[in-house]
Amino acid sequence: MEKVTIKDKTFAVSISAEELNDAVQKVADRLNEDVRDKNPLFLCILNGAFMFASDLLKKVNTPCEISFVKLASYEGTSTTENVKTLVGLSDNLKGRTVIVVEDIVDTGITMEHIIAMLEEAEVAEIKIATLFFKPESFRRSYKVDYIGMSIPNDFIVGYGLDYDGFGRNLPQIYSLVTE
Ligand code: 5GP
Ligand code: MG
Repeated sequence: MEKVTIKDKTFAVSISAEELNDAVQKVADRLNEDVRDKNPLFLCILNGAFMFASDLLKKVNTPCEISFVKLASYEGTSTTENVKTLVGLSDNLKGRTVIVVEDIVDTGITMEHIIAMLEEAEVAEIKIATLFFKPESFRRSYKVDYIGMSIPNDFIVGYGLDYDGFGRNLPQIYSLVTE
């Protein structure tokens, strides 16, 4: 199996580019049904979701706007309880249908932070689209509307996701190899 080394860790391919494309298409197909003519605004959560958002939005065929916020919660290979807003909401989102585009929902803390931010901005409707979901780790009560793929509780890199800043450019997903 193809492996990469990033800093002190070894990762092996676990999800191919083709499987990723199928998962993205599945999410796009459902969104195209659900938000048609709702003038939706897609909110991409930087940095991790940039590649998913880029591929997803090319498959979305209803008129829409795209905006970005930047949050950080991970340090190394584990999540931290404190979510930092590095770049916040810049648009007036009052009354809008907002689709949050996230790379991965793990414990769900980051998304909870985003939901609170959007409620404060008085949006009309929030939908959550995530490429990956870790059901074993999720501990929240809100609904995750669109899931590309549910995955085990392993640490992954590639397709936007990093280990200490590296690996985001990899076109497929690699999982941490534990010795
Ligand atoms: P949560 O707040 O749901 O625990 O974590 C969400 C954020 O943690 C994601 O947006 C993502 O940036 C990061 N994250 C969660 N799991 C992984 C993983 O397996 N690999 C990487 N690289 N980041 C992850
Ligand atoms: Mg993220």
